[in-house]
Amino acid sequence: MRQLLDEAAFGGYGVGAFNVNNMEQIQAVMEAAEETRSPVIIQASRGARQYTNDRFLIHLMEAAVELYPDVPVALHLDHGNSPETCLSAIAQGFTSVMMDGSLLADGKTPSDFEYNVAVTLEVVEQAHAVGVTVEGELGTLGGIEDGHGSGTVQLTDPDQAVEFVERTGIDALAVAIGTSHGAYKFTSPPTGDVLAMKLIQDINDRLPETHLVMHGSSSVPKALVDRINEYGGEIRPTWGVPVEEIQLGIRHGVRKINVDTDARLAMTGAVRKVLFEKTDEYDPRAYLKPAREAMKAVYAERMRQFGQAGHAGDCKPKSLETMREAYEIDLGEPLPPLPGAPLPSEALAEARADER
Ligand SMILES: [Zn+2]
Repeated sequence: MRQLLDEAAFGGYGVGAFNVNNMEQIQAVMEAAEETRSPVIIQASRGARQYTNDRFLIHLMEAAVELYPDVPVALHLDHGNSPETCLSAIAQGFTSVMMDGSLLADGKTPSDFEYNVAVTLEVVEQAHAVGVTVEGELGTLGGIEDGHGSGTVQLTDPDQAVEFVERTGIDALAVAIGTSHGAYKFTSPPTGDVLAMKLIQDINDRLPETHLVMHGSSSVPKALVDRINEYGGEIRPTWGVPVEEIQLGIRHGVRKINVDTDARLAMTGAVRKVLFEKTDEYDPRAYLKPAREAMKAVYAERMRQFGQAGHAGDCKPKSLETMREAYEIDLGEPLPPLPGAPLPSEALAEARADER
């Protein structure tokens, strides 16, 4: 992922990171990326890894890489709750991980700064030794996503951000600027009081070399909510992060933008419409195909808005081995030995045993 973010910084654009749980979502992301000629980040939360038992996800990703050779794609772990979770993802083939040490391993209790530095540094050392990218988080987001989140907002402190990046050596920093996970982000259109875009500028001024990440950045378009409600849904009035605010962030160092809810809304609306209109329909393809199309439209629109469209050919994806060597030069340390290649199932079993 580091390579995609470096290219994005060079080109002055952002890259959407889209959460996936199943085949239709992966297909929709890849089709949108091919159509718009975009590099793309596909990410899976712990919940998604459980839902797919990791192996379905990994094999679907292999199919994606095989079928779309012209789309540079990174597979990223969203909100790893502990070093063990990050390492098990790396063992599974993820090329990038997020160590979210802003919360304790329960994924709910806000941690302190020293804990965050310690767990993040541990992951950076292990991940960079095999060429894998690391995203960290400082401050906490609102909302709860797949059971992850404290429900309280703690904005990122810019001075602390500098110390955090220096001490951990992370590649990307998730900043808390008042956004939350889920569909119910704001009860009215967000203004400067609730969405601290100025904070992004402050952090970017102090850390111009660090790739910033915006979480909880679905825009929750009214049309997608309306469609669900038109066909029997009951989503309450809600507002997301306006695309213009994200574009402002991209001008100030935001390189990765996490979008999950918008695709969920698109999928749900499309499925509801078919089932509502054709009550005798029982072929899942009859509603999953329109669902896939609806998600693809959202992804393609975001790719154009974030500026990544047209940049698929900017660079040839580097191998993890090349990245490992680059990290070694950066860190100025001796090359750590490449780990022996355990069978994925063995590595997973070990990592899972550690997790318990
Ligand atoms: Zn997040």
